[in-house]
Amino acid sequence: MGFKEDADFARFLSMGVYAADAITQDLERNHGHRIIELERYAKANKVWQTKVKRMRLPDLMCVSCGRRFESKGKTKLEIKLSDSTLPGRSWRDGGMRLDDIFAFARVDMKASPVSVSNLVYVTRQSLEDALGSSKEGNRKSVSEGSEMDRRWPMWTPAYAGEVVAVDDGLRKVRVTKGTGTYLYGSGSRWAAFHTLAVGTAFEAGQPVAFCFRMADSVACAGDGSWSWQQDLLSTDEDIRFPAIKAARFLGAEPVEDILIGIADDESNDWRLRLEAHASLAPTRPASVAALLVLAECAGSTDEVRMEAVFSLSEIDTEEAAEALHSVASSIEPAVPEEVRAAAAWGLGTGARKAPAKLMRLVNDPSRLIATHAAAVMPSDLPQECLDELLNWLHTDDLRRAATAAHLLAERDLVAELVNALQTAPEDVRKLIVLALGDTSREAVAGLLSGLDPESRAGIYTLWAKNDDWLRQPDTDGILEALKLQTLRR
Ligand SMILES: [Zn+2]
Repeated sequence: MGFKEDADFARFLSMGVYAADAITQDLERNHGHRIIELERYAKANKVWQTKVKRMRLPDLMCVSCGRRFESKGKTKLEIKLSDSTLPGRSWRDGGMRLDDIFAFARVDMKASPVSVSNLVYVTRQSLEDALGSSKEGNRKSVSEGSEMDRRWPMWTPAYAGEVVAVDDGLRKVRVTKGTGTYLYGSGSRWAAFHTLAVGTAFEAGQPVAFCFRMADSVACAGDGSWSWQQDLLSTDEDIRFPAIKAARFLGAEPVEDILIGIADDESNDWRLRLEAHASLAPTRPASVAALLVLAECAGSTDEVRMEAVFSLSEIDTEEAAEALHSVASSIEPAVPEEVRAAAAWGLGTGARKAPAKLMRLVNDPSRLIATHAAAVMPSDLPQECLDELLNWLHTDDLRRAATAAHLLAERDLVAELVNALQTAPEDVRKLIVLALGDTSREAVAGLLSGLDPESRAGIYTLWAKNDDWLRQPDTDGILEALKLQTLRR
């Protein structure tokens, strides 16, 4: 996939990220949970080509009570889950126990900032009870594993109002609508009929009547309600994995020996072993070293390398940052470019930011690594990095100079660029003018008088882009795109 397709896909993934984040906030603030990502990257939208086949588990978990949450965000609020006839692939699989919670939300990506609303919490038990009312969506081909959607019907008026009366016998609900009322009667087709209580006010888009029982309480049962240390000893991977993951947040020291045992036992699934190291690594350099070996050694598969790199990115220690830099700059042919790029990414977006290390990667001969490093360079650069960037503007290395010009312009460091213009080599001066053309007009305007006439003329020409209606964000490339569609034989 090209980087433009990746960006489109990332936008699609963002919807799930916003939903998972809003659900996390609600569960923590209003219900007392302490939520972690049970599935790594549940709350990130970075697209990678190397797919890591993770344990089939929900995306979120509370480390206090051990309850698991599967979050779903869509443009339209629907109680819809993907389902399949293949063993282990039905809607109820994936590590959801009967009292675990499916959390649904409506995500408005067009709002600015993006808004998430109408949260609905349902236990798996409630969805099981209402299975008779659920409907299968279109089934895809058998070759796709008979994938389909399963939907549990409900009624969500598009207006705000209040519940006036509920007739459980006839399965009808009357609500206020503007100055009048509206009677909803389609619930008679469901096996069970649940509604908001009489007198309850509702917002536009909030479910009023539904074929399932909403979770009465999603409150956290509190510390001590989950015997996670015992779960570490379970023979069931679905039980054991969350406990290993939680250990990092609950204190790995008391269970260090158990975790080391899990990490060292070759009969365990690789994901359990890697996660045990990930939980030990913040306080145990030997586990950082073990993760580095997994990322770099010749015997690892690409998904193991990626997961090891992602784990190292979560650790806020100097050893972990060193390890990431080692992977990112690896000359080992067995280490794929994308694994190196992921390590660079971790140095900018991970637990420990390392701009000085990223500086050594932004001019890597591999375009993939150099661009990943440059994209995640912190916006606030330490002085020594700035000094180095300015040095690059005074070399004959045009690749280096271009990197520096971009990184400075992105940060609106206009005065620095203008100063460099006076002294930079001829070819580099042109790159600096180009970069100044990308910065905000207001930032540059005040400094124009100090420039030589040629550079000034160059910047004015670049600004003319704003006056060209075919070079605006919504029209740039439009003619080429239309010409591609003139084929007619
Ligand atoms: Zn909890």
